[in-house]
Parts: sequence; structure tokens; C-alpha cells
Amino acid sequence: MPAPQCASCGKARAALRRPRSGQALCGACFCAAFEAEVLHTVVAGRLLPPGAVVAVGASGGKDSTVLAHVLRELAPRLGVSLQLVAVDEGIGGYRDAALAAVRRQAARWELPLTIVAYADLFGGWTMDAVARSTAGSGRSRSCCTFCGVLRRRALEEGARLVGATHVVTGHNADDMAETVLMNFLRGDAGRLARGGGLGSAGEGGALPRCRPLQLASQKEVVLYAHFRRLDYFSEECVYAPEAFRGHARHLLKLLEAARPSAVLDLVHSAERLALAPAARPPPAGACSRCGALASRALCQACALLDGLDRGRPRLAIGKGRRGRDEVGPAAAAAVVAASGTPQEEEREQVQPPARKEAVPAVLTF
Ligand code: SF4
Ligand code: ZN
Repeated sequence: MPAPQCASCGKARAALRRPRSGQALCGACFCAAFEAEVLHTVVAGRLLPPGAVVAVGASGGKDSTVLAHVLRELAPRLGVSLQLVAVDEGIGGYRDAALAAVRRQAARWELPLTIVAYADLFGGWTMDAVARSTAGSGRSRSCCTFCGVLRRRALEEGARLVGATHVVTGHNADDMAETVLMNFLRGDAGRLARGGGLGSAGEGGALPRCRPLQLASQKEVVLYAHFRRLDYFSEECVYAPEAFRGHARHLLKLLEAARPSAVLDLVHSAERLALAPAARPPPAGACSRCGALASRALCQACALLDGLDRGRPRLAIGKGRRGRDEVGPAAAAAVVAASGTPQEEEREQVQPPARKEAVPAVLTF
């Protein structure tokens, strides 16, 4: 059966059906619609004010590549300027190739690029060194959790280095739904209640952060990259197979097959959750070492590095952590529907591992 006419322009043949709506569109109309939806997310959420200097967390992967490309298209209308900031975690055989993709993008799009490295920022610690250190501690499966905390700090440092006023990351709707699921599966009511919203306002002196692709599906991000012929790096990080996120991802695929709206339903559910007043911990203070917002004497990043330096790597995050993150059954039961999602450093979810994605089968007619 021949492909139908594009439902938007009515001139070209449709090249895809949009995964959510089933609308048949040509490639150009799909890309225009995708960009308009991201523009709406940014404007309606007041994420990036005119004049903002925006640090785009660039990993070379498809999400950050699509984010940088779309924001570059939208920048004149938003009145913002862009800086690419990439983080070199020190992962042999993986990050070098990914950074090469970021360099190509920066050159092609004529965007300034700054690369910050874990080794320079964190006293010589690279992710490979962290993985070796945690290998005998029973924490070897937690590389992504360590990496997520350090990456967030590194991106903040890089953004400050280039004079950015805002930070954006490429998390899409599937990433966010996976995070919500993980928090459910861990019984982590505190993170569940704090994980909604499109970003953080920048409490405790941190730069405001947002996720302009948070409502865009994984499939459409891949389709946009395909139709715009974007050059991105698609290999999986060597530590990704060990991540708990993989199980959440698998579960989400099963849920989505049974209920196509499952991804967005999960994202929106998190926006409406908050801890009941009685379950809220005392206000966070400042890290005694770096001054970042912290629930204990040290912030997550400093506690983590402290443990590594002492040869006792530990995760300073998670349910077992006393204080803000320690949420017992009573507190868990006290999660109630409410508005507002206060943010702070330790509330950020870890960076989702890169994933390989083929162009979805929705392309075929
Ligand atoms: Fe870090 Fe991502 Fe690799 Fe995990 S998958 S170790 S978060 S780069
Ligand atoms: Zn600190």
C-alpha cells in the first residue's frame, strides 16, 4: 500500500506515523512539529529566559545531540545563546569516541565547546579508577550511581567556567519514566516525590537546570535524529549493562506494549507527588567542604570522593542514608498529591546510561 499524503502539508508523501498520535507526516513536517513542541515546553515552563547563556550537557549521544540541534534552531526565537559542555568521565574505549562526536558537532554547528574531565576536577579520580576501587566492595554494580553524582557536579563546574546562567540536559520522557519506575521499585518515596517537574530552579547557589526533551518520547528523538541526519555516537558505555536502570527499561517496554501511554503517565504522575508536611525532613544546609546544598555535613559528591580517598567507597545516597533520604514506611505512606517540586543537588537523578536505538519501525508504510 503506498504511503499516504502528509497530514500536515498535504503535499509530500508521509514518511512516518507519529508513535503516540498515529498522525502520518513527512519528515520535514515531523521535524517542524517536534521543534514546536520543544519550544512550547520551554516557553510554557519558562525554562530559559531571554538573554540566558545556556550550557548544553553534550555527551555525543542521540539525546544531547538532538537537544543541541533543536535549541540551536530555536535560539534566535528564545533569545538565548548556547555553549556545549562535555564531561570526560575517564572511561577507556568509550568516552574518547563519544567526545570525538561532540567535537564534530561543535565544529559543524559553530558552537563553542568546553570539555571538563573527572580526573582534573576530582583529584585524579576517573570512572575507570572508581570502578576498580568499587570492584571489591560490593559496589561494582553501582558505577552509574557514582558517575551520576560526579557528572552532575562536573557539568555544573563546566557551565560556570563558560559563564552559563542555565544548564540543560537531554533526558527524554522514557528516561524520566524509567527513573520514576526505579524509585518505585526501590521504595524510595523521597526521590519519587521530588523527581517531578521539568527542572530545578537553582537553590543553594546551583545554576538552574532543565530538561527540554522531558515530554518527548525516545522513539521521536531517534526519528528526529534520523530525519535531520544528525551525526551521533551510539555505542553503549561499558558500565551500562550493570546498571539497575536496565531492568526498569525492560519493564517499561513491557508496560508500554500493554499501555502505550505508560511512559507519559509515569512522567506526569511524578509531577503530582510530594512528601506530606509531616514527612518532610529539616531544610538542607551547606556542604562543609564545597558549600553545595547538602542534607548532611558533606554533599553527595564530596561524601563520595571522601569515601574513595579513604579506600572505603560508599554510596552516600539511597534509602539507607539518614536524614532527608531516609524514608520509612510511615513517610512513604505520607506521599500525597501536591503541587511544587523543590529541588536541590541530591535530588537530581543519575545520568541515564547511553543506549543503542534503531530507527523505530513506525517509519514503514
Ligand atoms: Fe557514567 Fe553513563 Fe557510563 Fe553509567 S552508563 S558509568 S552514568 S557514562
Ligand atoms: Zn560538597
